[in-house]
Amino acid sequence: MSDKKNNKRNVRNNDEDYNPKFRKVRKKVCPLCADKNLKLDYKNADQLRKFINDKGKILPRRATGACAIHQRDITLAVKRARQIAILPYTQE
Ligand SMILES: [Zn+2]
Repeated sequence: MSDKKNNKRNVRNNDEDYNPKFRKVRKKVCPLCADKNLKLDYKNADQLRKFINDKGKILPRRATGACAIHQRDITLAVKRARQIAILPYTQE
């Protein structure tokens, strides 16, 4: 029985280089820093929809990849869009 368990665990470690501690994480580039022409607009719902999940919540920085300054701008824009009923506060 215990052999079966061990086999299952080893399937993931077939790759000898695999080590969750040193997983190579590609650093995301802030989408707003990368494209200088991109202007965040709270009236542009399609643009802001990229920064909210299907529940309508604002995505965290680790998901958007935005820098601190631009994440603040995103948050502000989404909140303004919600206020004028362009984006939902919540979705089922
Ligand atoms: Zn940025």
